[in-house]
Amino acid sequence: MSALEVTVDYDAIARNVEILRGHAAGADVMAVVKADAYGHGLVRAAQAARRGGATWLGVAQPHEALALRAAGDSGRILTWLYGPDVPARALIAADVDLSVSSPEVLGEIVAVSRENPRPARLHICVDTGLGREGVTPAELPVLLDLAIAAQEEGLVRIVGMWSHLAWADAPGHPTIDAQADVFREALSLAQDRRVGLEVRHLANSACTLTRPDLHFDLVRPGIAIYGLPPVADPYGERFGLTPAMTVRSEVILVKDVPQGHGVSYGHEYVTPYPTTLGLVSAGYADGVFRSGGNRAEVGIRGRRYQIAGRVCMDQFVVDLGPATSVCAGDPVTLFGVDGPSATDWARAIDTIDYEIVCRFGALRDKGAA
Ligand SMILES: *Cc1c(COP(=O)(O)O)cnc(C)c1O
Repeated sequence: MSALEVTVDYDAIARNVEILRGHAAGADVMAVVKADAYGHGLVRAAQAARRGGATWLGVAQPHEALALRAAGDSGRILTWLYGPDVPARALIAADVDLSVSSPEVLGEIVAVSRENPRPARLHICVDTGLGREGVTPAELPVLLDLAIAAQEEGLVRIVGMWSHLAWADAPGHPTIDAQADVFREALSLAQDRRVGLEVRHLANSACTLTRPDLHFDLVRPGIAIYGLPPVADPYGERFGLTPAMTVRSEVILVKDVPQGHGVSYGHEYVTPYPTTLGLVSAGYADGVFRSGGNRAEVGIRGRRYQIAGRVCMDQFVVDLGPATSVCAGDPVTLFGVDGPSATDWARAIDTIDYEIVCRFGALRDKGAA
């Protein structure tokens, strides 16, 4: 086996989508598969999400939408992250739904639509308080009127209006209701102008799981379809979600050392008793976060061990304790079904599990599995 083996359980993704559909009974599910499906593999994750009943797929980048079409996906797909250089011609030809945040992007889409028999389907993105993508409420009427004028010419169809929350992972945070209020005002602006919206959407994973009143017509879960709950389940059941990604390495050397033995560069770990060390053949060159030294845990034979001392370029060490049965050749689970979770890693090194799975996903693409 190579230094690290990254495996993805695609059936878990399909099941997770089914579970999210259960949480969002009145709404459709858009499975967010941006960033190579959070490292899980764009096409296979998307196929799994479709099996689980996702009627929509969502991606940030236009090339991801086109890659899904090239792989044969024929369902609804929304893409949202581009400037005026949006490849509108290719996207419209591929029947992809387009988000619009500015008059510049709208102008580009309309210009292309003039030479195209098929009107582009637009989702107006409103910045209700995230301060990221989307038109500000102040600029919304202008953008909406431009889009309506293009619609009246038969060049585009305004099918959606949407926004994204800043604090959905902190249930009860006052910005959630504040953003929802701004979103409702934006929707009523569209209604006043008699724009018949097909889909209104606001909810990411956290909002899907905690705020059924904000599901509108469509929810856009990402992290949860990969089995990582964005908020704590009050029942401690991970909302029934199964983590899809597992990352493993291997113990390549086991040896006894005396008490007081320094471990790895800088001796940041010193054995507190006579013990057995296990050497694992994966390091920061393989994607193992160096900040995990003396902090993050791994799983071996069903037990958790903290990484002892610094993570090196292609190896790290664990203190197996004085009476271990671990042998060279034993698998080591960095995170996944039979070890710590990506969320445990995130807590240990002060980041979010999104970053953990994206990091190892990049490795999976290098041909690790
Ligand atoms: C990434 C993203 C999502 C999914 O967010 P999760 O927290 O992973 O559920 C939904 N909508 C937009 C616009 C996003 O960028």
